[in-house]
Amino acid sequence: MTAIPVVPAHPGLPIAGSDERFPIRRAYCVGRNYGDHAREMGADPDREPPFFFSKPTDAVYAIDEGLPLDDVEPGHVPYPPVTSQLHHEVELVVAIGVGGKDISPGTALGHVWGYALGLDLTRRDIQDVAKQMRRPWDMAKGFDASGPISAIVPAAQIGHPETGRIYLEVNGELRQQGDLADQIWSVPEVIAALSQTITLKPGDLIFTGTPAGIAALAQGDVVTAGIDGVGTATFTVA
Ligand code: MN
Repeated sequence: MTAIPVVPAHPGLPIAGSDERFPIRRAYCVGRNYGDHAREMGADPDREPPFFFSKPTDAVYAIDEGLPLDDVEPGHVPYPPVTSQLHHEVELVVAIGVGGKDISPGTALGHVWGYALGLDLTRRDIQDVAKQMRRPWDMAKGFDASGPISAIVPAAQIGHPETGRIYLEVNGELRQQGDLADQIWSVPEVIAALSQTITLKPGDLIFTGTPAGIAALAQGDVVTAGIDGVGTATFTVA
């Protein structure tokens, strides 16, 4: 028998202010969760219930660490192949600490361990074709290194942010800006809705959607993003 392949386990994510790491299991994403972004995508923000998709776990990595196994330097995001329209989507990410299903909005925050800032990077041209052809979104949303993320900040330290500026700048120019209060579905409502569809487990991440202003990145761009009370991230598109 030939050698059984060696598959490295996901290293998890750094925890702000700690040497310990947050292990991750799955990464879910919410589509269109800010009214102004729903409108820029041609949707009606008032009538559509939340919908979900996912990224492969190993597409999520800590921006400040890079991806040593894939030759991605710390502070870099690699420009992926087969796209000429790599879009940034800055998002609040929820890190689940306690699993559950059919979670009620009133108890949902008890399942949250912490928060982070994440990028739901999107090959928009691939996604546009997928929408037209009624094909899956996986190759538009789940490509290598498509989920760069900041360190996880424990809710025990910062509480549960319900308001706060969320923004993204490219080469010093403001591209995306919104407020967490503008989410169509709040974090408790997102957790409740998702947990009716799948069972949430410890280590699951939920990217909670992006405000308006999505646009294309180019190699060499320097991106700075932040969420008040959660964190900031800076990276170069390599
Ligand atoms: Mn998104």
